[in-house]
Amino acid sequence: VTVSDLVDQSIKRINEVEDKVKAFITVDEENARGRAKQLDEQIGTEASDQVLFGVPAGIKDNIVTKNLLTTCASKMLENFDPIYDATVMEKLNSKGTVTIGKTNMDEFAMGSTTETSFYHPTYNPWNLSHVPGGSSGGSAAAVAAGEIMFSLGTDTGGSIRQPAAFCGVVGLKPTYGRVSRSGVVAFASSFDQVGPITRTVEDNAVVLEAISGHDHRDSTSIKREVPNYVNSLTGDIKGMKIAVPKEYIGEGVSEESKEAVLAALKVLEGLGATWEEVSLPYSSYGLASYYIVTSSEASSNLARFDGVRYGYRTENPKNLLDLYKKTRSEGFGDEVKRRIMLGTFALSAGYYDAYYKKAQQARALIKQDFDNVLSKYDVVIGPTTPTPAYKMGEVIDDIMTMYAGDLLTIPVNLAGLPAISVPCGYSNGLPLGLQIIGNYFDEATIYRMAHAFE
Ligand code: GLN
Repeated sequence: VTVSDLVDQSIKRINEVEDKVKAFITVDEENARGRAKQLDEQIGTEASDQVLFGVPAGIKDNIVTKNLLTTCASKMLENFDPIYDATVMEKLNSKGTVTIGKTNMDEFAMGSTTETSFYHPTYNPWNLSHVPGGSSGGSAAAVAAGEIMFSLGTDTGGSIRQPAAFCGVVGLKPTYGRVSRSGVVAFASSFDQVGPITRTVEDNAVVLEAISGHDHRDSTSIKREVPNYVNSLTGDIKGMKIAVPKEYIGEGVSEESKEAVLAALKVLEGLGATWEEVSLPYSSYGLASYYIVTSSEASSNLARFDGVRYGYRTENPKNLLDLYKKTRSEGFGDEVKRRIMLGTFALSAGYYDAYYKKAQQARALIKQDFDNVLSKYDVVIGPTTPTPAYKMGEVIDDIMTMYAGDLLTIPVNLAGLPAISVPCGYSNGLPLGLQIIGNYFDEATIYRMAHAFE
């Protein structure tokens, strides 16, 4: 096969299903075909020996792509045509991947259903009356529907793992600092990480290896060797020790999610691993801590969208203040405004100690909980989400329920740890995800277990 054949297949599939799934904001057929032609000329050279050579990909629309619209699913960036590539895109391009298009998401990655996109919602390929999850809902749905071979998502509080779980695919959130954030539109900078969404664990390992590594343009990326993750997929997990936090199979988690995890643990035991119940006592503060700290960071990060430097600008402002006010009132959606207000409030002089500082203290305790457990066990396991995918419209007007759905993914981001979601059964025809959390920079162990389980 040629690269053009692969791209043809991908576009054909997109034409078949996209009017139902709506996973993309932009599909750039012309660009993709042009790139495929160029790559076809390299077939037979060293370049074409690379595993990802010619592989069609979808990229979440908050990752900056040169000459390809990057909207963050917001009216604010409707016409943002970047003049450079994010570091992860440079890395993928150098490996010969083909970007087919930009995938739908919650506006500025804030949400859990892909319904806060300014453009349109995305539909769950398993059942079109359900959401694909979010915020990387387009990235997960496009892989699940076979439109592309892999995608990139971002995960600030679960946005790779939760849609992967809802769509029955594999999604990994790397250790904070593993992957460069340069060229990734910031939501909450001390949480955001880019990661792969794929059909299999092996594919995931290949993509992570391609995008990982230190980057001088991101001072929070870590100088540390990138292992060959595929080498760790030995199938051998004998003697590995699993911790199962009782809080992850307790209150707020549905019976079906618990049962799926207990069944998965049986499989893992059968493969020679052992498990014990543990406690992460501070995890109950996770949601509150996360929504305060991330909203605070977001309120600061999103200050740059002022109608002067980027994207949308209101028409006929009366003066500068009016320009800011109208641009931001018109350009941002409700969920984004809610976060900005929440964050601004939490950071304000009179409330900083009571909210922001307290939330950061809780964050440190949550990290300590994990440090304790991971000093004795290889991985921590639980469900990815408390329930399978919501119905369309079910939680979007019930914000507290929507936020509560992040219960099991958020502690991982607060601690900066890596975690994967792999498919582990179904409930009423909707997929469920098993979450495997590992130690800092130990994605290899996570992959080994996920691959043995898969
Ligand atoms: N659902 C979470 C939120 O709305 C997670 C978002 C994310 O990881 N980008 O903040």
